[in-house]
Order: sequence, then structure tokens, then C-alpha cells
Amino acid sequence: MLEANGTQGFLDFGTSYAAHGRYFEEFLKPRDDQGILDHLVMGVLPPIEGLYRTDLTPPWAHVWDRLGDDAKRKIAPAGILLSHAHGDHASDIAYVRSVVPIHASLTTAVTLKALQDSGRGGLATETVAWAKRATTAAGDTLAVDQGESAHQRIFRVPHGSALSASVEEYWVEPRGKTGDLITHPIEESDELGSWKLSCLPVDHSILGSVAWGIETGEGLVLYTGDLRPPRAGADLRRHLRAGAGRNRRTSSRDRGRSAGELSGRGTKRVEARHRRLCAA
Ligand SMILES: [Zn+2]
Repeated sequence: MLEANGTQGFLDFGTSYAAHGRYFEEFLKPRDDQGILDHLVMGVLPPIEGLYRTDLTPPWAHVWDRLGDDAKRKIAPAGILLSHAHGDHASDIAYVRSVVPIHASLTTAVTLKALQDSGRGGLATETVAWAKRATTAAGDTLAVDQGESAHQRIFRVPHGSALSASVEEYWVEPRGKTGDLITHPIEESDELGSWKLSCLPVDHSILGSVAWGIETGEGLVLYTGDLRPPRAGADLRRHLRAGAGRNRRTSSRDRGRSAGELSGRGTKRVEARHRRLCAA
């Protein structure tokens, strides 16, 4: 989570496979009919009150009371900056309130929808579209509220993304398992709260991977997400630019600025300059 200049935002929101693997495996999963109860009690999801979908809080479980005040954190993120579509960066968006917008490259947004559309369904897959849960007649389980349409999350892509008619049409297309769908066309935005955003394609093992340049007003933060390590001795700036081969859009206003911080998994904090910024 990054907090600066009055704005809070998450840098990715993926599943912690290490935490998950301590308690769950292929045939022992968190119970969908208990919403986020198992995730919170077992510490698989961070205990951030107000962040998660209210329909996933089982009213009979009093989960937030059980966690106690010391364990809980109150964070109201203006959005989530998504670096790429791998599960350890994106999957836990499924549990987040849909009013929290997701900033991603266009390729990542469409990849997430395709993964959900072609997947087996279930709560953990609801990264783009989500179906409201309601308490069943038994009073101790949750199930999809059949009287409600599914909803689509708000996704925002950088200005200048190649939003073709076919992409826009696919984005709002209900998938078979969701039935009726209340949709939100993909928006274009380079801002998150008080922050100004820019994105750089990076070299990783899934298309659409980006780093985010975040002008916070208190300094420039560069979040790389996963970044395939450059060869020993390679120029990091050149490596960052290697991912830009698929899209060469540049922004002259961003040239020559200095990044105050480079933050990412497996990446040491380094000083870096970035020159080529792009839209997808
Ligand atoms: Zn990855």
C-alpha cells in the first residue's frame, strides 16, 4: 500500500500463495459459502475493514469483532494500480469492493476478463465481474443472489490506449456464467486521487505487464511489479525500455525526469531515470 499526499492506493492486490499454502491446497480451499470469513480468520487476506465487498461478510460470523481492534486497519484506497494479470498480483481483487477502481494496461484488463470468462467460476475468480452473495434460507451460508444481475468493476487504462470497437464490445459482453451484467465501459485516466500516473511496459512472462510511475506530489515513485531480471551488468534503463517494443508511444513531458524510488518484487531500491512512457 502506498500513501502520499492524502491519497492511499494499493500497488497490486494479489493472492499471497505462501500464506494460502499454510492452510489450503487443491482439495482444501476457503469455503465460498462463507465469503471472506476463512480468508480473514486464517490471515490469508489482510484485515482491512471497509475494503472488502460487504456481501462477503457473513452476518452470523461477526468476523470483524473476532479480529479485534489491534488487528484491524482502516484504509480507504482511491484505487489499485495493477502491474500484470498473474494471480499473485491480481487475484484478490475478487474480494474488494467494486467502487475501488482498478488501473491496468488494456492488455491486462482484457486478459483478466478472458481468464474469468473461460474459468470454472467461483468467488476467487471474480476479478472483473462479480455476483452479489446473499444469506441462504439456512441462515449460515452465502450463495449467489439469483435476483440480482452481476456487476462489472471499474477498470481504468492509460490515456491513448488502443480501445478498438471490438475490445469495447468484448469488455461489456456478459459471460455465460454471469447472465445479466451491469457494465462499466473501460475508462481512460492518468490520475489516481492526487497522484499523476504514467506507465511503462516491462519485460515479464505475461503480456501487458507494466511498471507504474506515480507522481505523488511528495516525490516520484516507480513501481515495477515483476520484472524479469536483466543480465548482470545490463543497463536497467535499457531493460525497462525492452518491454516497450510492443508499443512505442512516448510522452515528451516525461522525458528526463528522475524517479525518486524504484519499487518492485525482487528489485532493490535504486535510482533510475525513465524516458519512454507509454499508454499500454
Ligand atoms: Zn508475475
